[in-house]
Amino acid sequence: MSGATLLKESGPKEVFCGLTSIVWLHRRMPDAFFLVVGSRTCAHLIQSAAGVMIFAEPRFGTAILEERDLAGLADAHDELNRVVKNLLARRPEIKTLFLVGSCPSEVIKIDLSRVAENLNIELKGQVTVLNYSGSGIETTFTQGEDGALKALIPLMPKSDQKKLLLVGTLANAVEDRLVSIFNRLGIDNVESFPPRQSTELPSIGPETKVLLTQPYLTDTARELKNKGAEIIEAPFPLGVTGSTLWIQAAANSFGIDKSIVDSILNPLISRAKKALEPHVEKLSGKKLFLLPESQLEIPLARFLSNECGMEIVEIGTPYLNRDLMKAEIDLLPPDCRIVEGQHVEKQLDRVRDSSPDLVVCGMGLANPLEAEGISTKWSIEMVFSPIHGIDQASDLAELFSRPLRRHDILNPTKT
Ligand code: SF4
Repeated sequence: MSGATLLKESGPKEVFCGLTSIVWLHRRMPDAFFLVVGSRTCAHLIQSAAGVMIFAEPRFGTAILEERDLAGLADAHDELNRVVKNLLARRPEIKTLFLVGSCPSEVIKIDLSRVAENLNIELKGQVTVLNYSGSGIETTFTQGEDGALKALIPLMPKSDQKKLLLVGTLANAVEDRLVSIFNRLGIDNVESFPPRQSTELPSIGPETKVLLTQPYLTDTARELKNKGAEIIEAPFPLGVTGSTLWIQAAANSFGIDKSIVDSILNPLISRAKKALEPHVEKLSGKKLFLLPESQLEIPLARFLSNECGMEIVEIGTPYLNRDLMKAEIDLLPPDCRIVEGQHVEKQLDRVRDSSPDLVVCGMGLANPLEAEGISTKWSIEMVFSPIHGIDQASDLAELFSRPLRRHDILNPTKT
């Protein structure tokens, strides 16, 4: 590993819980339904995080735990069974139903795996019922995707076919572009997990080579490995360098000749570097502080430091998987400070002491920091924006240069 300093911190946290990932998972798999087993607070979170989605036909809902359930006066398992059956009667098009645990369902110890098992027996394959936890006690927001994917893995059929499996939700257009690059390199059998339909799960076996698109899939990666797949070690496809090394790692693993890889990637790299220039001009020399939320913080810091010239004050990450993150940490400048976990008060003190030009943080912290004159960028935007791949590097940089430009406009005397 590079000379980065790795520290741990614990204390009060200020992060979204794993329920939030439903917002992008339900778009990815339109035939799936996510039923949050939680309180009114959980319902409000999902509705406000999903924003405009409540105007569309929703593919998520909440089985509200009422006070009677929470006080143990009702059998919450029976209540949940009833809610699920009503839902499936109303929505026969649902093919996969995820029961998503929350803080309240965990506190009152509803056994969602038992409920799912019983429903699967009763429903006889008409609908597949799965469960995972999105509870804020256990997860930060991107870990919800890790839990949902892990729940799907036992359903993946076995296969001896040689294939490249891209793992982690990507915007469809970005995914199409990346698959087309792999096809041009000569890797024809490329599949994605999660798939675009929950019922079309890719098969898996010893000839499956997994390329992670997102850094927050620790449990999923472990389970895929247990199924015999090989995890290709690479940085993540953010920025020109990360995306190039990511594609090259897959190409190496499939024995593709370097000259072929260079001939396809070099024009993309030149074009992307040119498109990055105006953003580098704005970002270069600016101080960046990343508070922990999405687990994307280390790849983002690597990109913003190495390709955009930003000075990294601190990289916070809610959880650090040293194996999956090794290739990223190796690329960081040697004096970087990475802090795993969170003590939000201490971190905010360090933010104020270091006077950064930009802070990447959760929505809850952004407003107070903006009120203090510190520019911010919401971490959650990174999981909704098409930022992966060589072509997207300038769009990714723009997410960070835009708040600085806005700050300049609002504070003309300070620029
Ligand atoms: Fe809040 Fe927990 Fe519900 Fe998330 S799961 S909205 S943290 S109560």
